[in-house]
Amino acid sequence: MASNKESGWFGYQEVSPDEKTGLVRGVFDSVADRYDIMNDLMSGGIHRIWKDRLIRQIRPKSLVNSQAYCGYKYLDVAGGTGDIAFRIRQKTGPGADIQVLDINENMLRAGRDRAIDRGWVHDFDWLVGTAESLPIPDQSRDVYTIAFGLRNVTHIDTALEEAYRVLRPGGRFFCLEFSHVQNPLLSNAYRLYSRTVIPNVGALVAQDRESYQYLVESIERFPNQKALAARIEDAGFAKVRYTNLSAGIAAIHEGWKL
Ligand code: SAM
Repeated sequence: MASNKESGWFGYQEVSPDEKTGLVRGVFDSVADRYDIMNDLMSGGIHRIWKDRLIRQIRPKSLVNSQAYCGYKYLDVAGGTGDIAFRIRQKTGPGADIQVLDINENMLRAGRDRAIDRGWVHDFDWLVGTAESLPIPDQSRDVYTIAFGLRNVTHIDTALEEAYRVLRPGGRFFCLEFSHVQNPLLSNAYRLYSRTVIPNVGALVAQDRESYQYLVESIERFPNQKALAARIEDAGFAKVRYTNLSAGIAAIHEGWKL
């Protein structure tokens, strides 16, 4: 039975929670091979700048040059083809403890292939699983990241509670996600661009209009900055704050488990 909560919607289509999970998995099955190139094409490369900004906020410590112990344990949920995990690894150097979890094996396989190309295959643990039921012990990770993943998760509040559970006290939560443009004029222009250009480019380049139509609808339905911050607080996180990126097209939310 569908409800107003995102678990009852696949984009603008009313579905049951189980159907939603299956449909989202299908989207990423069909885009896995072209995911990286389509990301660049759709965003004009801006997703790279947003991801770099996320890493600057996390400030992963170099294991190579540091005197102090800083062997943080990282978990990147909905990690897909590894964009966030690779950026963390770039900062820490070899020997970091980085787990990449995704519901979709094809996305992880693409990520593993990229890691092999970089000679980094042994630097990551690739885990198939869902954000709503992490196969990870309580209080075992220092940093939890989820980039462009939470919007796709069927039960967002359950995923946030899981993030809280697996972080140790003092651990930090980061979510990079599409959000809501604050300026009404810009917001209208952005809506026009996303409703027309994105599905058409998806159809032309990836021969997959539906997946990119879902992308646009899922962004429009995702909670705005304040609503998401409140839900992160409800999951138990403290000092929750957000940073708008590109006028609010995306935002980074962060919080502490104290
Ligand atoms: N984080 C990567 C990035 O920023 O490039 C990938 C983002 S991609 C848009 C979204 C990812 O979320 C996909 O790889 C998809 O399989 C994954 N995903 C969707 N629902 C999920 C869930 N319930 N649990 C874990 N991963 C999920």
